[in-house]
Amino acid sequence: MVTEIPEVASATPPAKILVCDDDPTVRLLARECLEAAGLVVVEAEDGRQALDAFREHVPDLVFLDVDMPEINGFGVCRQIREMSAGRDVPILIATGSNDNASIDRGFEAGATQYKTKPINWSLLPRDIRYMLRAARAFNVLKAQQAQLIQLAYYDPLTGLPNRRSFLERLKKSVREAQAFNREFALLMVDLDNFKRIHDPLGEALSNRLLTIIADRLQQGLANIAPPGPDPMEYPDVSKLVTPTLDLIRPGGDEFNIIARNFAGAEAIAGIADAVLTLLAEPLIFSDNKLVVTASIGVAMAPEDASEADALVRRANSALQAAKLGGRSRYQFYDATLADDANRKLQLEADLRAALDRTDQLFMAYQPQIDTETGKIAGMEALARWNHPDLGPISPGVFAPLAEESGLINQLGDWIFKRIEQDFKQQQQHLSQDLTISINLSPLQFTQADFTQTLATNLESIQAITKVELELTEGVLMSDTSDSLLKLNELRQLGIRLAIDDFGTGYSSLSYLKDFPVQTLKIDRAFVKNLGNDSGKSIVRAILAVADATKLTVVAEGVETRDQAQFLTHQQCRLLQGFWLAEPMALSEVVKLLDDDFRPRLQDLSAQAT
Ligand code: C2E
Ligand code: CA
Ligand code: CA
Repeated sequence: MVTEIPEVASATPPAKILVCDDDPTVRLLARECLEAAGLVVVEAEDGRQALDAFREHVPDLVFLDVDMPEINGFGVCRQIREMSAGRDVPILIATGSNDNASIDRGFEAGATQYKTKPINWSLLPRDIRYMLRAARAFNVLKAQQAQLIQLAYYDPLTGLPNRRSFLERLKKSVREAQAFNREFALLMVDLDNFKRIHDPLGEALSNRLLTIIADRLQQGLANIAPPGPDPMEYPDVSKLVTPTLDLIRPGGDEFNIIARNFAGAEAIAGIADAVLTLLAEPLIFSDNKLVVTASIGVAMAPEDASEADALVRRANSALQAAKLGGRSRYQFYDATLADDANRKLQLEADLRAALDRTDQLFMAYQPQIDTETGKIAGMEALARWNHPDLGPISPGVFAPLAEESGLINQLGDWIFKRIEQDFKQQQQHLSQDLTISINLSPLQFTQADFTQTLATNLESIQAITKVELELTEGVLMSDTSDSLLKLNELRQLGIRLAIDDFGTGYSSLSYLKDFPVQTLKIDRAFVKNLGNDSGKSIVRAILAVADATKLTVVAEGVETRDQAQFLTHQQCRLLQGFWLAEPMALSEVVKLLDDDFRPRLQDLSAQAT
């Protein structure tokens, strides 16, 4: 009985068959009967021609004689299977005799089906249609399977392997490391303060930003080493011994990297550095420029842990330590890193205690230099905590900690009180020509009674110098109407407002005109990049906008003469940074009030000529 084979839908072009045989009669007969069945035929007389014809025509099926000049049928079959277009194409070999050895060799070479000569020409078209249909079914299945794998193991947003894939890769790496006595590293990358960008941007734009970051990391890492074998695929043995880097997005603003076959911690540190550098370049995004930094925790296997779960925990402790250490940095796991939760609780308790004492917390003041007069025009108040065991801890760490533990208002009040004390002590040296800039945490700003408390706190400081408050962009963007109300109240109180870390959040310059803001502080990330052209052009652009909107600009983090000179030349009004003056006690600032900083702002070689 002959089963009816459904015809291929008329829209699909007829299938193309490559007939390879050195016998012209065989080619002629094959052509006659296959064309009569509506198939298209391409011919080849020998093995070499067969391969050329395959490359040129990419047929849907190959009919292959075994005994041919140049390259025999087995050789052709093998070479077709090595081509990407030839991996799944059905191949029918025609052996000269019913000899089992040839048939076996044919299957070994990758043939799909065999026929013995003489060929029954009337049956050939039907057999070929069966083979084509089976191949189509196989390809559909393969595509479906690929789709399922994609859904299960890849993140739809970035196309990177997802958390599930991460765990499989990690377990596989663990097995390989044990089997081959090798090391590998897990790097956990977490974007710093991503919430600060995410909230004002909203979901859709944040997702786009994450895609851009993922692409940048993926390309950058690919330049160092290719990705490792996909756990779903047949392992490529060469990848088991050469360096590979897998970038994974387990979710949110996290990325993981599995680094295999790198030689030692130094090489891994190089990768961590490369990630920080890749992110340092500002992202051009919706006409804005954003700088996103990341913290990285590193754990090495088998040194730090030999099981997947333990390794993840270790890398995570290292990551928390990197964040505590001031972000935008990496940290290797080491056994002295205490359990994060305990560490944080302890630190919170310590901060609470420090607020009740007077000897651990104090204020430092960093001068801001007026590039026109060369004199100190103001200073930023920076909180300092000298922890009895841990040494100095950055306010970048303990201010957020105070926010989380509900201590921020207490800390804020303490800071105002201390500034007031310091200022009263130095009152005779200070005047209304000076401005004191005070940092405010976003949480302080959102307090309901914020303006009243502030008015009381600042009254006596305002009697001595002008007061400016530094706020980050995110605060202004999150609830615009409430923000606007409060900012206007502050203005009534004669308090100036500065936008801190300008450029690192959602720096939409358009909102500037809506807010009663007087000062922009260019984040030090941009000043750091002044060595290259894109860095220069960003700073020029910010200065141009500030000029048009009549804002005073402070450049932060000025560390070199070149930076100071460039900024002075571009008429940036105020400079702040280690090159000019580090944060210091108010009594020390007072001693510098009459100093002329111009020699530090100018090109000495230009002066000499
Ligand atoms: P920020 O407001 O951006 O403060 C500037 C930071 O840059 C300070 O770090 C300062 O010491 C540092 N800096 C100054 N010149 C240079 C330089 O030339 N190069 C480099 N690399 N850094 C320089 P600090 O004191 O560790 O403060 C970190 C952050 O902590 C501040 O960033 C601010 O957001 C927060 N903070 C500081 N004091 C207070 C405070 O009294 N209250 C609140 N809520 N937050 C504070
Ligand atoms: Ca600041
Ligand atoms: Ca700043």
